[in-house]
Amino acid sequence: MKERVIMLVDGLSFYASIEKAAHPEYRDKPVAVGDPARKSGIILAACPAAKSQGVTTAERVGEALAKCPELVVIRPRMQTYISVSLFMTEIYESFTDQVEPYSVDEQFLDVTGSLSLFGGSADEIARQIQARVQLSTGIWTRVGIGPTKILAKMATDNFAKKVPGGVYTLSKDNIESDLWPLPIHQMFMVASRMTRHFAHMGLLTIGDIARLDLGEFKRRMRYEMGKQSDIQAEYYWQTANGIDPSPVIAGMRKQIKVINNGRALRWGKYRTMEDIEPLMLELVIEVCRRARRYGYMGRVISVAAAETDGYRSSSFGRQVTLFRPTYLEHEVGAAAYSLFAKYWRRMPITHLHITLTGLSADDVYQLDLFEDREKLILRSKTIDQIKDRFGPASIVRASSLMETGQAYERAAQIGGHWA
Ligand SMILES: [Mg+2]
Repeated sequence: MKERVIMLVDGLSFYASIEKAAHPEYRDKPVAVGDPARKSGIILAACPAAKSQGVTTAERVGEALAKCPELVVIRPRMQTYISVSLFMTEIYESFTDQVEPYSVDEQFLDVTGSLSLFGGSADEIARQIQARVQLSTGIWTRVGIGPTKILAKMATDNFAKKVPGGVYTLSKDNIESDLWPLPIHQMFMVASRMTRHFAHMGLLTIGDIARLDLGEFKRRMRYEMGKQSDIQAEYYWQTANGIDPSPVIAGMRKQIKVINNGRALRWGKYRTMEDIEPLMLELVIEVCRRARRYGYMGRVISVAAAETDGYRSSSFGRQVTLFRPTYLEHEVGAAAYSLFAKYWRRMPITHLHITLTGLSADDVYQLDLFEDREKLILRSKTIDQIKDRFGPASIVRASSLMETGQAYERAAQIGGHWA
């Protein structure tokens, strides 16, 4: 197979840069995005001038102001940020039709097919993209380039964000010299708990994993984490080696207003709550997975069902609006379950449909202070990635093990935890 050329383009201090472009009067001031009226609220983004004075994302507005009293705190305008993000997608689409938004300020581009149109060089495309985006939005972008998505992502996070010029390529020629010496926590999807496990296994750098024979790494992981850790081992080993067959999938995040999943059912099979719960869970899991893939959370959960006992029939469609958007299975599931339990007339159901609407970009979740929830969100995304890479069957095993998995799985389990 021909080697692909994939980019991850990341907007520097995205929200703050948009606000700076919109407010020329703050040009030379430290600017952050957050709620100026709530000192306990969180800083969502800070411009480089603010960062140089110690302001960091995710700290409280009050703490940031204490460090940097002249900080200009601007209320977030998520709709604007999403519009700018979509506008950036359009710019990228003038370079390739394969553009996949990864988050509001990060997008993957597969430029393999367009290299010859732009002088044959990925670096040249990257520089043109940077110039175009800067000119039309005021946002400076950094571009990581690699033969796989995972390498492009790690090229951005670990290198392109740090080098002058903001463009960096990780390929099989420099993965060993550049990526492998990095400490293991700089590898994608490795957080503190896995860092500790790896340290315990004597693995301190990304190269320590990459250089191991996969079989040997699996053996060590089983010893450290239990005998069902094979998929997890494979995931980390592939990541360390830059292996990632997943394609850049175009067309996400646009035009989506509704995410739904439903089923027509064989009559008589779904009579009791015990019959229906697993089906509902299945629908909820798929809705949530799609929502994560599109980068949307929803606040409105709807359940529609049709039921009949052969004599009478009935149907309902009801919805509930949550106080914050979600795509977490246990939250969507709890809402769906209580709606269903309330309106179901206890006849065998012939149709069940779950819908998520009131969508907003999933970056907005950072607005709240539920740190555990943020962990759950990271968990669910990790699990999706494993599923994408190793197939749906992998997930039952993998999700219960991933750093991320256990509490999440338990929370999402049917029965008892729903309501
Ligand atoms: Mg960024």
